[in-house]
Order: sequence, then structure tokens, then C-alpha cells
Amino acid sequence: MKSSPVIAIHGGAGTISAAALDASAAQAYHDALRVIVQASQALLLKGAPALDAVCLAVEMLEDCPLFNAGHGAVFTAAETHELDAAVMNGADLRAGAVAGVSHIRRPVRAARAVMEDGAHVLLAGAGAEAFARERGLEMVEPAYFSTEARRAQLHRAQAANRVVLDHDGAAGSGAPLDEGRKFGTVGAVALDLAGHLAAATSTGGMTNKRVGRVGDSPLIGAGTYADDKRAAVSCTGTGEMFIRAAAAYDVCARMRYAGQSLAQAAQAVVMQSLPAIGGSGGLIAVDRLGNVCMPFNTEGMYRGHARGTDAPQTAIHR
Ligand code: ASP
Repeated sequence: MKSSPVIAIHGGAGTISAAALDASAAQAYHDALRVIVQASQALLLKGAPALDAVCLAVEMLEDCPLFNAGHGAVFTAAETHELDAAVMNGADLRAGAVAGVSHIRRPVRAARAVMEDGAHVLLAGAGAEAFARERGLEMVEPAYFSTEARRAQLHRAQAANRVVLDHDGAAGSGAPLDEGRKFGTVGAVALDLAGHLAAATSTGGMTNKRVGRVGDSPLIGAGTYADDKRAAVSCTGTGEMFIRAAAAYDVCARMRYAGQSLAQAAQAVVMQSLPAIGGSGGLIAVDRLGNVCMPFNTEGMYRGHARGTDAPQTAIHR
């Protein structure tokens, strides 16, 4: 089956501050999102698999310091970094993930290597890093991930005694979403020319999180899921609630068992199931027909998408 390829990406959800009005900061996010959507779109138009497109998008988001993944990741309470990432291939339900890593430059590549290796789905900590080294992936010192903006964000969170999501809270950082109250996790979902779906997610987690805490992003079914028969989903938000709601899988389950459309399923998860247990954030999803859905229950979510050869569209607020 030939379908029009679709790519959608997110760079986290959260609360908009007064600084949201800073047009040049907003423009930097729009520009970054557009360039990344374009690169993945070009790959898909050449006939590349959805898996390659989502991995490319997430790698580029990891490399961009504006987002909470890879370089620019948030700090733990111990002023360290612990990164999580996952990838899932909708054609055969293969999946791979890493959790709590601090030396792998692009965690999504390690997640993909775990998937391709096939023996396991999720590797954590030192074992995940040893695996990445064995596979010849690029390793870095943890300081590579640090930026002064994130360090200041940690110190504000510690002063307020809070664990915060990357795009959430009062911060006055000049970013279009309030830097203290946003979930800066990144993710991508895609439909390729052959009709296959894939999803990938990568994150530094939550600012001031306890050392050892793992969020929803690397948990298949919670923050990341893809099934060619239903949809590809990547989430961002308060990870604990996304885990408890099995959020990404619930979108697919609602389509499968309740006959809901992608839009109905995604809306129900983000606007009903998650808020019912105090969960805030959003998700991006694409189904096998190429429908795209990007609901969020926060004030904004960094996002972008493109279909076929159409120009990419990017957005931050509603
Ligand atoms: N969901 C991520 C986590 O809980 C945070 C985020 O979306 O920014 O680790």
C-alpha cells in the first residue's frame, strides 16, 4: 500500500509564562521544529522506513539544547543527568529502550540498538551504557548534557522544594513556555510510504527528580507505543501518571477494543483519563490512515508535523 508519509514531532508540553510573549524565543523553537520536521519528511519522501524518520527527528531534538533530551537535559536532585529513551516499530511490535543513562550522547540510538539486538526490550544504567559502548555508539562525559539554563532551573526548583516538569513553572527564562513548568521531553511518530508506523521518545526526565527515578518515556505502552494496525504514539508530561494510565497503549487499546477513532482515543486519554489522576501533558499520534492528533491538557506543547510534500506546520500554544 502506498500512503502519503506523515511525520509529527513534539518538544514537550507545559505552562505558558508572561515570557511567552518574547517573539524571538518563540521563533527559535519554531525554527528548530521546522528544520527537524523537514529533515524527517525528506527522508520519508525518499522511501525510508518510519523507524528511520522518528530516530532522525529524535536525534536532532536530542542535539538541540532547547529541548530536555540529550544536550540540554534537565538535572536530577543530585545535579546529575539520567536520560531515558525508547523506540517502537509498528510493523512487528519490536521495541527497545534505555533508562537512567548518563554517558550515551544520543540515547535514542541506544534504544534502537537494544531493539535491533532483540534479546531484551529495556536496559538500565551501567548495563545499558556497557551495551552502547559495545555497539560503538558515541559516548560523552555527563557534562556534555549540561547547560547553564537547566542548572538555574534546578536551583529554582530546589529553592521551591519541587520536582518539576521541564516546561512548567515560574521562571522568566524568556522561553515561550514557562521553563519551570514544562515537560521538555522530545518525541516523534511517523507513517511511511509503505504504510508502516513507528514512534520514538527521549528525555532527561523531570527537574529535581530523585536519582534512580524512571519516567514514562522509556516504558513501552506508557510514554511510547506503535502498532501498524492502530497508531504510533509519543507522550510528554508528568511521567508517573502516564505510567499509571498506560497512556500510549491506551490510545491504541481504545481504537482496538472500543472502535474509537484516533482523535476520540487520544482526546479521551489526554482530556479525561490523565487529568482524572492528576496527570498533565500531551501526546502526538498518527494512525495508519495518516490522521494526526496532538492533544495536550497544558497551555502549550512544542510541536510540528508535515504530510506528503506539504510545508511543515509548527505550533507552541493552542
Ligand atoms: N514524561 C517525562 C518524564 O516524566 C517528562 C517530560 O515529558 O518532559 O520523565
